[in-house]
Amino acid sequence: MNREPDNGITRYNMGQLRKAWAATAIFVVIFLLAVASAISQSQQALSHREVNAAATSLELSAHTLATIELIESPPRNIQRERNAAIAMLDDDAVFDRTSLDGQERVRAYELTDELTANAASGRVTPRPLVDELLDILHTDGATADNHSEQAASAAFRSLLVAGVAGLAIVALAGASYRRERQLSRSMRDQAHTDFLTGLPNRREIPSSLGQARSAMHGKAGSTALLYLDLDAFKDINDSLGHTTGDQVLCLTAERLLNGQRQNETAMRLGGDEFAVVIHNVGSIEEAMDAAHRYQRQLERPVDLPDFGESLRVSVGIAIADSADDLDDLYARADIAMYEAKERRGSRIVLFEESMREASTTQSQLMRALRASDYDAEFRLEFQPIVSTDQTELFFLEALLRWDHPTLGAVSPGDFIPLAERTGEIKPLGNWVFRQVCTQLLAWEDDHALADVSISCNVSAHQFDDEEFLTELRTAIDHRGVDPSRIIIEVTESALSGPHVADILDEIRRLGYPVAVDDFGAGYANLAQLVSMPFDILKVDSGLVRNLENAGPRETNAVDILMAIGAIAMSRGTPVICEGIETEEQRQLLVKANISHLQGWIFARPARPENVADLVPGVVELDVAA
Ligand code: C2E
Ligand code: MG
Ligand code: MG
Repeated sequence: MNREPDNGITRYNMGQLRKAWAATAIFVVIFLLAVASAISQSQQALSHREVNAAATSLELSAHTLATIELIESPPRNIQRERNAAIAMLDDDAVFDRTSLDGQERVRAYELTDELTANAASGRVTPRPLVDELLDILHTDGATADNHSEQAASAAFRSLLVAGVAGLAIVALAGASYRRERQLSRSMRDQAHTDFLTGLPNRREIPSSLGQARSAMHGKAGSTALLYLDLDAFKDINDSLGHTTGDQVLCLTAERLLNGQRQNETAMRLGGDEFAVVIHNVGSIEEAMDAAHRYQRQLERPVDLPDFGESLRVSVGIAIADSADDLDDLYARADIAMYEAKERRGSRIVLFEESMREASTTQSQLMRALRASDYDAEFRLEFQPIVSTDQTELFFLEALLRWDHPTLGAVSPGDFIPLAERTGEIKPLGNWVFRQVCTQLLAWEDDHALADVSISCNVSAHQFDDEEFLTELRTAIDHRGVDPSRIIIEVTESALSGPHVADILDEIRRLGYPVAVDDFGAGYANLAQLVSMPFDILKVDSGLVRNLENAGPRETNAVDILMAIGAIAMSRGTPVICEGIETEEQRQLLVKANISHLQGWIFARPARPENVADLVPGVVELDVAA
């Protein structure tokens, strides 16, 4: 469940961002070219303008006449402009003499030569000569202006291009920057948001606790962390499918948000784990009240197809009274939540120091399990399953025992879930199966147990392990085991996992009968009883214990048992009730027509060497595998 956000959107946005930066780079190049061109154009324009400027400063800009006049009599202090004006007068590009008719052209050159020579030597050219030249040229100085203007307008165009490019760069760079900021903000938001539910995710915890830290330095109240975990969520996923599982998670998020107050931040930590950080908490009671409020919200009935039960939620609470306490607030809430789970769920537990030890024990156990020597530390005990009248043995259930050299006897209720969590269950489960085979073959020589059948508990996690099916095949092919005498027990919660039906079919095809264990403890429904491929039904001890405590509802409870019995009978499946300890319970089974029982009323699990003493008389297992 714990899906990281899909980065498809991010990747797409990164592509866009790259394009934007590429476009900006292109515009930068255009800008630089345009600026270079504008500089060169404007240099040209400037050289023309210099002449014009000279003309202007010599009052020649409007008319060439004035140019010539001032060439004739330049002010002393503008020698540079004067030289420019002379050069201009001599320049055909400025005063076009080449296009004049032959006579006029010759005369124009003569006059020009005289004018420039006079100007160079400081002599004044007589006015009529100047007028004659002007007449021939038919000009008023526009040519020079034109050139200057052309160059200037080219420079202007270049500048315009540069300007537009510059503006485009600024606009693009601005847009890119904004988009980048937007993106990085949205990437940050995405990274801090749970993809499925839209709640903040666990990355939000540090910032939330950071706020709490600054508030606490300002002497605000305490900070509480509620750690919420849905009970048996895996069963919901397994039995109702992942889509329903996702819907349940979204519904939980919605309910958390609806119940959230101003000083509270709800988040999803991953999987079926959620948290609420509560700032400025006045007292422990206030935090407990909040936990109860959220638990009530989340445990309201769920309106989803096939979802018979309400959700159950375990809550761990930890409180930080000072900024220093914030450091391990999360870890303490986590430990408290596990404690709530240990107490069979749907509990609210406030962290206490003593719980740390238990959590240390868990990690100790985990290490010990990893380092364990199966042959030296593990062994099997066997408990009989008998007919309800206790006259006939049906089969023996193999139950795993762990005698750790220093930790002592560890209960399967403690180490099996750990083994499942760490994956150790796969090799360990295969070891158990091999032991069962060995024991079965060993008993073949014992006349009391020669025909006995044994059931072997198999965890759903073993179904992911290809080696498991190989073990089953090897037992038949290479060890000569009769598969009809080894019953594979799978818990109800494993039933609807992906491909489970196929695996169960394969197991049965090999000849091993399948028993559904702990029926009624999870979320399986009666409909599954009809459709799932199994041969024996084992009803969870909790259901029978409820019967005993049922009081006035007892009849209903017996009705439920009878219904289960009737369905099982209609498909020819024997039913076993587990955990039968008292005669009263046994009588209830008789009333409900339950064919078999397992429990202390008859025998506790025993070492293999003691089993023969327990057996009332072995009957051949009669199930259609
Ligand atoms: P389970 O398969 O439902 O086994 C029945 C459990 O009920 C056993 O607990 C048995 O000792 C206990 N029991 C039987 N009759 C009574 C009774 O009258 N009263 C009470 N209070 N308890 C009774 P145990 O041996 O502690 O095993 C607990 C669970 O651990 C088993 O429940 C099974 O789920 C798991 N387990 C045990 N061995 C293995 C194994 O080899 N592989 C796997 N995957 N799980 C195992
Ligand atoms: Mg069992
Ligand atoms: Mg059971």
